[in-house]
Amino acid sequence: MNILLIGSGGREHALARSLSASALCDKLLIAPGNPGTAQHGTNVALDVTDHRAVIDFCRVMKVDFVVVGPEAPLVAGLVDDLTAAGIKAFGPSKAAAQLEGSKAFTKDLCAEFDIPTAAYRRFTDAEAAKAYIRGYGVPIVVKADGLAAGKGVVVATSFEEAEQAVDMMIGGGLGAAGAEVVIEAFLEGEEASFFALCDGTHAVPFGTAQDHKRVFDGDQGPNTGGMGAYSPAAVMTPELQARAMREIIEPTLAGMKARGTPYTGILYAGLMLTKDGPQLIEYNARLGDPETQVLLPRLKSDLVTALLAACDGVLNSISLQWSDQAALTVVMAARGYPGAVEKGSEIRGIDKAEALNDVIVFHAGTKQDGDRIVANGGRVLNVTALGRTISEAQTKAYEAVSQIVWPEGFCRKDIGWRAVEREES
Ligand code: ATP
Repeated sequence: MNILLIGSGGREHALARSLSASALCDKLLIAPGNPGTAQHGTNVALDVTDHRAVIDFCRVMKVDFVVVGPEAPLVAGLVDDLTAAGIKAFGPSKAAAQLEGSKAFTKDLCAEFDIPTAAYRRFTDAEAAKAYIRGYGVPIVVKADGLAAGKGVVVATSFEEAEQAVDMMIGGGLGAAGAEVVIEAFLEGEEASFFALCDGTHAVPFGTAQDHKRVFDGDQGPNTGGMGAYSPAAVMTPELQARAMREIIEPTLAGMKARGTPYTGILYAGLMLTKDGPQLIEYNARLGDPETQVLLPRLKSDLVTALLAACDGVLNSISLQWSDQAALTVVMAARGYPGAVEKGSEIRGIDKAEALNDVIVFHAGTKQDGDRIVANGGRVLNVTALGRTISEAQTKAYEAVSQIVWPEGFCRKDIGWRAVEREES
């Protein structure tokens, strides 16, 4: 079959690699893609915000199946429009993608269906929000309702910080995304990401991971889209995974179905592992970036078969096989990230890194410039390695990083530290 993949990051390079490896995939097209996805298919210039254009393209190119990587097209209803046009598409509908698009929506769903999450209140009035915070105490968490590219959450340890966050968000600092805020209780514990593949009714676990959001070593500095990740997350024991499925994922699917908006796609749960068990921090309606870069290299089953089974509502008929190996990815970013970065610096040595055993270099923000690869964004490469343990994967990933010559770039040197400590203890 002909498959169209939407997106252009490291996640999409990892998806392109696994989709193109499937016996079911005759032709892979990627819109817009990057130099990494071009190794596995054909990049096409297509305005994915123009749904009509995407549908016309699918008809002309005889696309049988569309896989949507990022959240923006999901929240904009691309899957609804493709489905209405008779084109099979993987990912949730616009209504179901509200699980990522609106924190208030998700919190209300949790309340209605008894899904463990931090206690919360919703506010559109800044004074009312501040009065509530005064009455509640700190630490407390202030969240913009809508999508805010990682800038919409403030974990406040003082009243001043919490009140400033409320004023910034409701005052329009994040645009429409902050017009409503969710104020929630601070949860203590270790965070882990849990992924489930869902077909509207059934869910199968799709792996665990932990990521590193802060830009500098020792989890210091501002938040980013993610500076590295590893999988599996040993802290998510089989018991905790079973509990997350039973207490969080399955009631969410049942609730979404009962509301008439069944959830199909990847449900990515950000969990806090508290002393009372896993609690939901947030949902994402798609695979994570860079988590995909450590999940998919470990998937032994055919990805296209699995995604089609989710679209067809027959996930109960398949089981997924995973490698026993661990995977770890180091994000190489342009200096200045997560702030302003310069584009266009040359990157050399990717081939040398990839010549090492068990190493894959995923492209995130690169551009082909003649026969050179140049930086074209903040997060630029995801250097991924597999190993028997996270420690071994970490050693191999940093060996690969050392082959890459890019003076204008940087990476964290401690990706996986928590898991490595755990393995050593
Ligand atoms: P992302 O960029 O991961 O999509 P987001 O902007 O959607 O993030 P959340 O994941 O909800 O926001 O929160 C970001 C981070 O804030 C979490 O990873 C966690 O570290 C912290 N956090 C959020 N809610 C809580 C809470 N209730 N208690 C403690 N920490 C929290």
